[in-house]
Amino acid sequence: MEILDGRVVSQAVKDDLKKQVLLLQQQNKKVPHLAAILIGNNGASETYVASKIKNCAEIGFKSTLVRFEESVSEVELIQAIEKLNNDKDVDGILLQLPLPAQVREEKIINLIDPAKDVDGFHPQNTGRLMQGLPGYIPATPYGIMLLLEYYKIETAGKHAVVIGRSNIVGRPISILLSLNTNPGNCTVTLCHSRTKNLKDICLQADIIVAALGKPGFLTADMVKENAVVIDVGITRVADASKKSGFAIMGDVDFTNVAPRCSFISPVPGGVGLMTIAALLKNTWKAYGKKDTS
Ligand code: NAD
Repeated sequence: MEILDGRVVSQAVKDDLKKQVLLLQQQNKKVPHLAAILIGNNGASETYVASKIKNCAEIGFKSTLVRFEESVSEVELIQAIEKLNNDKDVDGILLQLPLPAQVREEKIINLIDPAKDVDGFHPQNTGRLMQGLPGYIPATPYGIMLLLEYYKIETAGKHAVVIGRSNIVGRPISILLSLNTNPGNCTVTLCHSRTKNLKDICLQADIIVAALGKPGFLTADMVKENAVVIDVGITRVADASKKSGFAIMGDVDFTNVAPRCSFISPVPGGVGLMTIAALLKNTWKAYGKKDTS
């Protein structure tokens, strides 16, 4: 069993970007600039955004944090997005989800300039992804593809089972794995809360991507020998032994599943770090080429 180590791969991505930023700095050129919009005081969202900003600083990207109260109105958010869309210095816009109930997520995402949509959530970018055209791939599925690529996992002709059909993880990774690319060329089964016989389907999988948000859901009896298991889940579970008061749990029962696998990604230290690395890569791309066509 080999660990798909998000620490190693994300560091390799960041080292590469850092070198390129250094070249820009040496020539006194503008560096990539990511603007993050954070609403409210959700602990997980705060942690994610802080980490993204810290990672920008580490590699020399400029970042701006735009904060709003939980009570923000749609009009205020629209104005903020229009301002960032029109700001020539801003290359990428990140809107940290979830949004408060009074704000229509679809409406706000659709307002982000597709050329600055480094989250890859704008319909123009999701459409491009579906057609295998260049565009911005949502950071988590993109990070998973980078992980598979780094470890040279053979995916062609393999049966990949994705658990979870969200717009930000499950559905896009199912499409990416089915494209005629490397990694890719999988036969994909997309499972969700209404799927019947999930265990039987998982037992036929060469690759399993667990993205449902239920700690320890994928157990050893659902995984065939030598499967590749990618754990996307991030759930905070109360843990008095931790300083923070919680532990981060993945969707996979790692202790019992890992011995059956050829490769497995851990939580933490797996897909979460790759998500940030992929976001930085998207921001670099936005910097270099505002027109994604
Ligand atoms: P979501 O809640 O939007 O979607 C969950 C999906 O799981 C749904 O499509 C649902 O149909 C499916 N599901 C729920 N129960 C199921 C069951 N019993 N059997 C089969 N399918 C079931 O979640 P999401 O936003 O896709 O996130 C999933 C998990 O991934 C969460 O833990 C989230 O925190 C984590 N996540 C991690 C990263 C990262 O960077 N590692 C990024 C995004 C999300």
